[in-house]
Amino acid sequence: MPHRPKYLPDKARAQDFSRRLRRWFRRNSRDLPWRRTRDPYRVLVSELMLQQTQVSRVVDFYGKFLKRFPTIHTLAAAPPKRVMESWEGLGYYARARNLHKLAKQVTVNGGSGALPTVPAELQKLPGIGAYTAGAVASFAHEKRAALVDTNVARVLARVFAPKLNPKRPSDLKCLWVIAEEVLPRTGSATWTHNQAMMELGALVCTARVKRCADCPLTSVCLTFASDTRG
Ligand code: SF4
Repeated sequence: MPHRPKYLPDKARAQDFSRRLRRWFRRNSRDLPWRRTRDPYRVLVSELMLQQTQVSRVVDFYGKFLKRFPTIHTLAAAPPKRVMESWEGLGYYARARNLHKLAKQVTVNGGSGALPTVPAELQKLPGIGAYTAGAVASFAHEKRAALVDTNVARVLARVFAPKLNPKRPSDLKCLWVIAEEVLPRTGSATWTHNQAMMELGALVCTARVKRCADCPLTSVCLTFASDTRG
């Protein structure tokens, strides 16, 4: 049997983690516009905007951008100058350039504009890395796909593997393995599970503070156990 890393939780603990998270999310999540859609284009726009930009700022820009470019076809047909103008205030313009390039690529020669459903295929498109591919597969297509961003990496490390440092590339790979391991069984549960990990990392288990008193994961969290042991 292949060697199983020590940081990987067994099935019962993984299930407990995911159930607790999802229950918490249903009661405590913020109502954000991109959580009300499964349109892959809209999900992608939100994910690109959310990289490097605060949620409160994105809420405003997201609505305006989609009013201007309601479909991937309208975006593909727009002149680059107009796309850049619509991104003004968000910064990191490479995101807008890549999004525009991607829109053209999937609509060229009468292309349907559909985005792939599998992370490996999504990653072949301009500007889509491992995280964004997982996010579009899971949040738009409701596929059973893992994702790890800074919030998720922090939560997974604190709960399952406090010795892993998400800033170290080899440790980050281990956190991706944990993220795969703790996925729930179905795609729709994965949608909630992934959203919940990100929400918990943004609201409860943040980089600045661990709000363990408000956290649903105390009974499964190794960091909590070691902090309370003193
Ligand atoms: S119990 Fe504390 S350290 Fe563990 S995930 Fe929750 S907030 Fe983070």
